Amino acid sequence: MKKIFKTIVPVVLAVLVLAGGAGIWAWQRAALRDATDGKLQLHFIDVGQADAALLILPTGERIMIDTGTKESGEAILSHLAKWDVGALDLVILSHNHDDHAGGLPVIADAMPVGGVLYSGEVPADCGVPMRAVSAGYGFSIGEVQFSILGPLSEEGTENRSMILRIDYGVRSFLFTGDAEAGEEELLLEKAHALLNVDLLKVAHHGSATSSTEAFLAAVSPEVAVISASADNDFGHPSPQTVNRLKALDCMIYRTDWTGTLVFLCDGTVLSRYIR
Ligand SMILES: [Zn+2]
Repeated sequence: MKKIFKTIVPVVLAVLVLAGGAGIWAWQRAALRDATDGKLQLHFIDVGQADAALLILPTGERIMIDTGTKESGEAILSHLAKWDVGALDLVILSHNHDDHAGGLPVIADAMPVGGVLYSGEVPADCGVPMRAVSAGYGFSIGEVQFSILGPLSEEGTENRSMILRIDYGVRSFLFTGDAEAGEEELLLEKAHALLNVDLLKVAHHGSATSSTEAFLAAVSPEVAVISASADNDFGHPSPQTVNRLKALDCMIYRTDWTGTLVFLCDGTVLSRYIR
Protein backbone atom coordinates (compact mmCIF):
# COMPACT_ATOMS: atom_id res chain seq x y z
CA MET A 1 0.00 0.00 0.00
CA LYS A 2 2.63 2.47 1.06
CA LYS A 3 4.89 1.72 -1.88
CA ILE A 4 2.27 2.53 -4.46
CA PHE A 5 0.99 5.56 -2.60
CA LYS A 6 4.49 6.98 -2.35
CA THR A 7 5.11 6.43 -6.05
CA ILE A 8 1.91 8.04 -7.21
CA VAL A 9 1.80 11.14 -5.06
CA PRO A 10 5.14 12.59 -6.07
CA VAL A 11 4.33 12.05 -9.74
CA VAL A 12 0.99 13.85 -9.55
CA LEU A 13 2.28 16.71 -7.42
CA ALA A 14 5.30 17.34 -9.67
CA VAL A 15 3.02 17.45 -12.66
CA LEU A 16 0.68 19.92 -10.98
CA VAL A 17 3.57 22.34 -10.54
CA LEU A 18 4.86 21.86 -14.07
CA ALA A 19 1.52 22.05 -15.77
CA GLY A 20 0.30 24.95 -13.66
CA GLY A 21 -3.00 23.20 -13.18
CA ALA A 22 -3.72 22.62 -16.85
CA GLY A 23 -4.46 19.10 -17.94
CA ILE A 24 -4.40 17.83 -14.37
CA TRP A 25 -7.05 15.27 -15.08
CA ALA A 26 -5.10 13.77 -17.97
CA TRP A 27 -2.01 13.49 -15.80
CA GLN A 28 -3.95 11.90 -12.98
CA ARG A 29 -5.30 9.38 -15.43
CA ALA A 30 -1.78 8.65 -16.66
CA ALA A 31 -0.62 8.15 -13.07
CA LEU A 32 -3.54 5.82 -12.47
CA ARG A 33 -2.72 3.89 -15.62
CA ASP A 34 0.91 3.51 -14.54
CA ALA A 35 -0.14 2.29 -11.10
CA THR A 36 -2.68 -0.23 -12.33
CA ASP A 37 -1.22 -1.41 -15.65
CA GLY A 38 -0.88 -5.16 -15.91
CA LYS A 39 -2.26 -5.65 -12.42
CA LEU A 40 -5.31 -7.41 -11.12
CA GLN A 41 -7.56 -4.85 -9.44
CA LEU A 42 -9.97 -5.80 -6.67
CA HIS A 43 -12.45 -3.11 -5.69
CA PHE A 44 -14.70 -3.61 -2.69
CA ILE A 45 -17.34 -0.99 -3.36
CA ASP A 46 -18.97 0.66 -0.34
CA VAL A 47 -22.59 -0.39 -0.75
CA GLY A 48 -23.58 -0.24 2.92
CA GLN A 49 -24.99 -3.46 4.37
CA ALA A 50 -24.38 -5.45 1.17
CA ASP A 51 -21.61 -6.87 -1.03
CA ALA A 52 -20.31 -5.62 -4.37
CA ALA A 53 -16.81 -6.21 -5.72
CA LEU A 54 -15.35 -5.18 -9.05
CA LEU A 55 -12.42 -7.02 -10.59
CA ILE A 56 -10.44 -5.49 -13.42
CA LEU A 57 -8.20 -8.14 -14.87
CA PRO A 58 -4.66 -7.55 -16.18
CA THR A 59 -6.06 -8.42 -19.61
CA GLY A 60 -8.77 -5.76 -19.26
CA GLU A 61 -11.90 -7.80 -18.55
CA ARG A 62 -14.31 -6.33 -16.03
CA ILE A 63 -16.10 -8.65 -13.66
CA MET A 64 -18.38 -7.97 -10.73
CA ILE A 65 -18.81 -10.34 -7.81
CA ASP A 66 -22.19 -9.45 -6.29
CA THR A 67 -24.02 -6.26 -7.07
CA GLY A 68 -25.22 -4.72 -3.81
CA THR A 69 -28.86 -3.80 -3.25
CA LYS A 70 -31.18 -2.14 -5.74
CA GLU A 71 -30.76 1.06 -3.71
CA SER A 72 -26.99 0.90 -4.00
CA GLY A 73 -27.19 0.55 -7.80
CA GLU A 74 -26.48 4.25 -8.34
CA ALA A 75 -23.42 4.18 -6.05
CA ILE A 76 -22.10 1.21 -8.01
CA LEU A 77 -22.70 2.94 -11.35
CA SER A 78 -20.89 6.02 -10.16
CA HIS A 79 -17.90 3.90 -9.02
CA LEU A 80 -17.86 2.11 -12.38
CA ALA A 81 -17.95 5.45 -14.22
CA LYS A 82 -15.08 6.77 -12.11
CA TRP A 83 -12.98 3.79 -13.20
CA ASP A 84 -14.06 4.00 -16.85
CA VAL A 85 -16.05 0.79 -16.73
CA GLY A 86 -18.79 1.11 -19.35
CA ALA A 87 -19.55 -2.59 -19.72
CA LEU A 88 -19.14 -5.75 -17.67
CA ASP A 89 -17.85 -8.96 -19.19
CA LEU A 90 -19.29 -11.05 -16.41
CA VAL A 91 -21.25 -10.83 -13.17
CA ILE A 92 -20.85 -13.56 -10.58
CA LEU A 93 -23.62 -13.72 -7.98
CA SER A 94 -22.85 -15.46 -4.70
CA HIS A 95 -26.54 -15.99 -3.94
CA ASN A 96 -29.89 -14.55 -4.73
CA HIS A 97 -30.42 -12.22 -1.79
CA ASP A 98 -31.27 -8.58 -2.31
CA ASP A 99 -28.03 -7.32 -0.70
CA HIS A 100 -25.97 -9.32 -3.24
CA ALA A 101 -28.10 -9.57 -6.38
CA GLY A 102 -30.44 -6.56 -5.97
CA GLY A 103 -28.29 -4.13 -7.95
CA LEU A 104 -28.00 -6.34 -11.03
CA PRO A 105 -31.11 -5.03 -12.86
CA VAL A 106 -29.94 -1.43 -12.30
CA ILE A 107 -26.50 -2.24 -13.71
CA ALA A 108 -27.89 -4.30 -16.61
CA ASP A 109 -30.17 -1.38 -17.51
CA ALA A 110 -27.23 1.00 -17.61
CA MET A 111 -24.59 -1.02 -19.49
CA PRO A 112 -23.99 -4.21 -21.44
CA VAL A 113 -23.38 -7.25 -19.24
CA GLY A 114 -21.87 -10.30 -20.95
CA GLY A 115 -23.33 -12.94 -18.68
CA VAL A 116 -24.14 -14.00 -15.14
CA LEU A 117 -22.81 -17.00 -13.23
CA TYR A 118 -24.77 -18.01 -10.16
CA SER A 119 -25.20 -20.77 -7.61
CA GLY A 120 -28.36 -21.87 -5.83
CA GLU A 121 -31.61 -19.99 -6.48
CA VAL A 122 -32.04 -18.59 -10.00
CA PRO A 123 -31.73 -14.76 -10.02
CA ALA A 124 -34.53 -12.64 -11.53
CA ASP A 125 -34.34 -12.38 -15.31
CA CYS A 126 -32.78 -9.09 -16.39
CA GLY A 127 -32.19 -9.93 -20.04
CA VAL A 128 -28.63 -11.20 -19.46
CA PRO A 129 -27.63 -14.79 -20.25
CA MET A 130 -27.31 -16.76 -17.01
CA ARG A 131 -25.55 -19.97 -16.19
CA ALA A 132 -25.69 -22.02 -13.00
CA VAL A 133 -22.35 -23.28 -11.76
CA SER A 134 -21.44 -25.59 -8.91
CA ALA A 135 -18.44 -26.83 -6.96
CA GLY A 136 -15.74 -28.19 -9.24
CA TYR A 137 -16.36 -25.68 -12.05
CA GLY A 138 -13.45 -23.47 -12.97
CA PHE A 139 -12.20 -21.21 -15.73
CA SER A 140 -9.27 -18.97 -16.55
CA ILE A 141 -9.10 -15.54 -18.12
CA GLY A 142 -5.53 -14.81 -19.11
CA GLU A 143 -3.49 -15.82 -16.09
CA VAL A 144 -6.32 -15.33 -13.59
CA GLN A 145 -7.93 -18.56 -12.49
CA PHE A 146 -11.42 -18.88 -11.05
CA SER A 147 -12.31 -22.01 -9.07
CA ILE A 148 -15.69 -22.67 -7.57
CA LEU A 149 -15.27 -24.60 -4.33
CA GLY A 150 -18.87 -24.46 -3.19
CA PRO A 151 -21.65 -24.42 -2.23
CA LEU A 152 -21.39 -27.90 -0.84
CA SER A 153 -24.51 -27.39 1.31
CA GLU A 154 -27.80 -28.41 -0.21
CA GLU A 155 -30.08 -26.29 1.93
CA GLY A 156 -30.49 -22.66 2.93
CA THR A 157 -29.97 -19.66 0.67
CA GLU A 158 -27.03 -18.24 2.61
CA ASN A 159 -25.34 -21.61 3.00
CA ARG A 160 -25.74 -22.15 -0.71
CA SER A 161 -23.59 -19.08 -1.41
CA MET A 162 -21.00 -19.61 -4.08
CA ILE A 163 -17.50 -20.10 -2.67
CA LEU A 164 -15.13 -18.64 -5.22
CA ARG A 165 -11.36 -18.87 -5.13
CA ILE A 166 -9.34 -16.66 -7.46
CA ASP A 167 -5.64 -17.19 -8.15
CA TYR A 168 -3.25 -14.82 -9.83
CA GLY A 169 0.45 -15.66 -9.76
CA VAL A 170 1.30 -16.69 -6.23
CA ARG A 171 -1.60 -14.69 -4.75
CA SER A 172 -5.10 -15.90 -4.03
CA PHE A 173 -8.46 -14.52 -2.96
CA LEU A 174 -11.56 -16.12 -1.47
CA PHE A 175 -15.11 -14.85 -1.84
CA THR A 176 -17.62 -16.55 0.41
CA GLY A 177 -20.90 -14.65 -0.02
CA ASP A 178 -22.99 -15.17 3.11
CA ALA A 179 -21.93 -18.79 3.74
CA GLU A 180 -22.33 -19.84 7.34
CA ALA A 181 -20.66 -22.27 9.75
CA GLY A 182 -22.42 -25.34 8.22
CA GLU A 183 -20.95 -24.64 4.77
CA GLU A 184 -17.56 -23.83 6.30
CA GLU A 185 -17.55 -27.22 8.00
CA LEU A 186 -18.21 -28.99 4.67
CA LEU A 187 -15.47 -26.95 3.00
CA LEU A 188 -13.03 -27.93 5.75
CA GLU A 189 -13.93 -31.57 5.14
CA LYS A 190 -13.84 -31.59 1.34
CA ALA A 191 -11.66 -28.69 0.19
CA HIS A 192 -9.34 -27.98 3.09
CA ALA A 193 -6.21 -27.70 0.95
CA LEU A 194 -7.80 -25.04 -1.27
CA LEU A 195 -8.95 -22.70 1.49
CA ASN A 196 -5.64 -21.04 2.30
CA VAL A 197 -5.58 -17.63 0.57
CA ASP A 198 -4.04 -14.17 0.94
CA LEU A 199 -7.24 -12.12 0.92
CA LEU A 200 -10.59 -13.18 2.34
CA LYS A 201 -13.87 -11.40 1.73
CA VAL A 202 -15.26 -12.24 5.15
CA ALA A 203 -18.54 -14.15 4.95
CA HIS A 204 -21.91 -12.63 5.75
CA HIS A 205 -20.75 -9.10 6.56
CA GLY A 206 -18.78 -10.38 9.57
CA SER A 207 -21.69 -12.22 11.20
CA ALA A 208 -20.80 -14.40 14.21
CA THR A 209 -22.66 -17.30 12.55
CA SER A 210 -19.85 -17.54 9.97
CA SER A 211 -16.05 -17.38 10.18
CA THR A 212 -15.49 -20.15 12.72
CA GLU A 213 -12.07 -20.37 14.28
CA ALA A 214 -11.31 -23.59 12.36
CA PHE A 215 -12.36 -22.08 9.03
CA LEU A 216 -10.35 -18.89 9.55
CA ALA A 217 -7.33 -20.95 10.62
CA ALA A 218 -7.54 -22.91 7.35
CA VAL A 219 -7.92 -19.73 5.26
CA SER A 220 -5.25 -17.91 7.27
CA PRO A 221 -5.59 -14.64 5.30
CA GLU A 222 -3.12 -11.80 5.26
CA VAL A 223 -5.96 -9.38 4.48
CA ALA A 224 -9.60 -9.67 5.56
CA VAL A 225 -12.28 -7.44 4.05
CA ILE A 226 -15.62 -6.94 5.77
CA SER A 227 -18.41 -5.30 3.78
CA ALA A 228 -21.00 -3.79 6.11
CA SER A 229 -22.74 -0.51 6.92
CA ALA A 230 -22.13 1.50 10.06
CA ASP A 231 -24.79 0.93 12.74
CA ASN A 232 -26.61 -1.79 10.83
CA ASP A 233 -29.54 -3.60 12.48
CA PHE A 234 -27.65 -6.90 12.63
CA GLY A 235 -24.67 -5.73 14.67
CA HIS A 236 -22.34 -6.73 11.81
CA PRO A 237 -19.50 -7.23 11.97
CA SER A 238 -19.80 -9.16 15.18
CA PRO A 239 -17.11 -8.43 17.77
CA GLN A 240 -16.52 -12.21 18.02
CA THR A 241 -15.68 -12.42 14.31
CA VAL A 242 -13.43 -9.38 14.52
CA ASN A 243 -11.64 -10.92 17.52
CA ARG A 244 -11.20 -14.23 15.70
CA LEU A 245 -9.64 -12.33 12.80
CA LYS A 246 -7.43 -10.29 15.12
CA ALA A 247 -6.15 -13.53 16.64
CA LEU A 248 -4.84 -14.45 13.16
CA ASP A 249 -2.82 -11.28 13.02
CA CYS A 250 -4.22 -10.24 9.63
CA MET A 251 -4.98 -6.77 8.30
CA ILE A 252 -8.70 -6.14 8.77
CA TYR A 253 -10.45 -3.68 6.47
CA ARG A 254 -14.09 -2.65 6.93
CA THR A 255 -16.02 -0.74 4.31
CA ASP A 256 -18.09 0.89 7.10
CA TRP A 257 -14.88 2.55 8.30
CA THR A 258 -12.88 3.04 5.10
CA GLY A 259 -15.52 3.30 2.37
CA THR A 260 -14.63 1.70 -0.94
CA LEU A 261 -11.37 -0.27 -0.91
CA VAL A 262 -9.13 -0.97 -3.89
CA PHE A 263 -6.34 -3.56 -3.90
CA LEU A 264 -3.82 -4.19 -6.64
CA CYS A 265 -1.95 -7.39 -7.31
CA ASP A 266 0.81 -8.01 -9.84
CA GLY A 267 0.81 -11.73 -9.10
CA THR A 268 3.45 -11.33 -6.41
CA VAL A 269 2.78 -8.17 -4.41
CA LEU A 270 -0.66 -7.42 -3.02
CA SER A 271 -1.17 -3.81 -1.96
CA ARG A 272 -3.91 -1.34 -1.17
CA TYR A 273 -4.33 1.45 -3.66
CA ILE A 274 -5.34 4.90 -2.44
CA ARG A 275 -6.34 7.26 -5.20
ZN1 LIG B 1 -25.49 -10.57 2.65
